[in-house]
Amino acid sequence: MLQVTSKLPDIGTSIFAVMTRLANEHGAINLSQGFPDFDCDPALVEAVARAMRDGHNQYAPMPGVLALREAIAAKVTRCYGAPCDADGEVVVTSGATAGLYATLTALVQPGDEVLLFEPCYDSYVPVVRLSGGTPVFVSLRYPDYAVDWDAVRAAITPRTRLILVNTPHNPTGTVWSADDMRQLAAIVDGTDIVIVSDEVYEHILFDLRRHESVLRYPELRRRAVVVSSFGKTFHTTGWKVGYCVAPPPLMAEVTRVHQFVTFTVHTPTQVAFAEFLTRDPEATALAGFYQARRDRFLSLTSGSRFVPLACAGTYFQLLDYSAISQDADRSVAEWLLTTHGVAAIPVSAFLYRDTGGPVLRFCFAKKDETLEAAAGRLSRV
Ligand code: PMP
Ligand code: GLN
Repeated sequence: MLQVTSKLPDIGTSIFAVMTRLANEHGAINLSQGFPDFDCDPALVEAVARAMRDGHNQYAPMPGVLALREAIAAKVTRCYGAPCDADGEVVVTSGATAGLYATLTALVQPGDEVLLFEPCYDSYVPVVRLSGGTPVFVSLRYPDYAVDWDAVRAAITPRTRLILVNTPHNPTGTVWSADDMRQLAAIVDGTDIVIVSDEVYEHILFDLRRHESVLRYPELRRRAVVVSSFGKTFHTTGWKVGYCVAPPPLMAEVTRVHQFVTFTVHTPTQVAFAEFLTRDPEATALAGFYQARRDRFLSLTSGSRFVPLACAGTYFQLLDYSAISQDADRSVAEWLLTTHGVAAIPVSAFLYRDTGGPVLRFCFAKKDETLEAAAGRLSRV
């Protein structure tokens, strides 16, 4: 028998893969993994096909198709007022996942501490550990998941190399305020701490909230790698195209790793995104579109025993199940799926130290009929 020593012996299959497989096996309505069940703009599909017919079928430049990097740089300036050079400050990656992987691998050295806010997205901790870093957690606590800045200050040590932030936040749907960003800036002032900011839901904020990108804050921008994804903005999660923006000294290191992770991303898709991003850099209709989905889901589930928590952004809604069960969220998620035919994500999958609250995460990036059918089942629980 071949002996294989795992580098991540305690990490199982991603909760998203697990829940989607279970949903398919049980014929449940899948509100677990975050992806739309409606299609992207057919004109975007046509633009990719056109790029293929036009012969954009070989390797792109290693950091990305120039027209796309220029469109990203222009968008960053337009949306966040941050000057950005397409040459040396932008890299196109295979989704935000590969951007985060290249960034953390490039910047975390063995023994470094990486400050994370839990609950946190599932890819962060394994990658920190693969790089020999030590995750240090600050809790965002049920039910408002606000940042306790005193706890952040207390968690900083001389070994803190990096702080990983995520706003709008998966899985809680909270968004950071301008005051949060100022607190963050004050904490890192005078240190060499790098900020990695996962902003994949940058265009999905509700009730006229403004996205507080770290790119708006020059003192943060100069020490930050910002990661985003076209999957969320263009309803194309399966295309796996994202990007990182960082000042040249940081970008040089991220690119050094990126070239050996994916090297270059699918060329025709980059050509098409360049066209679409230039046309509508602010994704003007997206927030309204998802706000209507959120409100529809809330009104459809209002007669149920599930109680919604505030959702300020992302396409995830947390529902509190404490009126229904006192069990742990994993068992409730399993029971909901097998007995009532609705798949959701237990928030504890995003936790390492805390136990979390009695909540499940539901993705509302779904057609009306999907939300109606799911809400019908949830109302009978
Ligand atoms: N970060 C967060 C917070 C996410 O929710 C996701 C995925 N949905 C990702 C990163 C990964 O994005 P991508 O699919 O572009 O790799
Ligand atoms: N980000 C999506 C979610 O949170 C799923 C991504 C994945 O399946 N890895 O559900």
